[in-house]
Amino acid sequence: MIQKIDHIGIAVTSLDEAIPFYEKALGLKCQHVETVVSQKVKTAFFHVGEVHIELLEPTDPDSPVAKFLAKNGPGVHHIAFAADDVAIQLNQAKEAGCRLINESPIDGAGGKKVAFLHPKSTFGVLTEFCSEK
Ligand code: ZN
Repeated sequence: MIQKIDHIGIAVTSLDEAIPFYEKALGLKCQHVETVVSQKVKTAFFHVGEVHIELLEPTDPDSPVAKFLAKNGPGVHHIAFAADDVAIQLNQAKEAGCRLINESPIDGAGGKKVAFLHPKSTFGVLTEFCSEK
């Protein structure tokens, strides 16, 4: 079952340039910065009530986020739903005819299990499921 929107992912070319906007212009505090090897990104998290903002800077030209930036420039990259069980959500989406990017959960930021649905199946919104386990 989906619990809530966990975070909104925003693609940026440089965390060093983007973090000061969130800290100075919005008054939010960067909670932590972490490199996610599986996604080839460096992430920075901000708490906004129950929801988080996840800034994504590619660490490699091969990174999916690098390809997104090349095509679209910086901007909203994905929406993540917190789920009890990512594998069950993936199965439900697959049975409903969605194209999956990840057939099974992978390791995401913060030690979470994550998986993505292809934006061609989700009306243009790259959709992530994430769970604590
Ligand atoms: Zn995410």
